[in-house]
Amino acid sequence: MGSGIPSRAMELVTEIVGSRREEARHCAWCGRRLPDSGRIGRPRRYCAQPCRQRAYERRAAVQRGGLPEDAVVLSAAELADLQDRLFQLRCAAEDVATAASDGADAAELGRLAQELVDNARGLERLR
Ligand SMILES: [Zn+2]
Repeated sequence: MGSGIPSRAMELVTEIVGSRREEARHCAWCGRRLPDSGRIGRPRRYCAQPCRQRAYERRAAVQRGGLPEDAVVLSAAELADLQDRLFQLRCAAEDVATAASDGADAAELGRLAQELVDNARGLERLR
């Protein structure tokens, strides 16, 4: 053997990657968190039929355009919406940092942290 990575370390990495993949399943179209299916078999990729349909139509259009099948294509409006929500996330994060440097108490920091969490959750939606 003689390769550099100890096998226990590889096991850990595999565990971490495996569990993360399991806990973060998102609709392949809109990015919403998928409910835990719990069932055996192929995990679902879309949260609902309209998402499946729109993904199919976009895939067909992408293929007609000669792009690779796994290309992710956002419209200008979808990208603008995503950028708006990213900006809101940054503002929420800056509120936490500002409150911390201003010596805000734990209750205030907790409230701002919860806003940050809610904001970040909204960002899991891509479209
Ligand atoms: Zn969806």
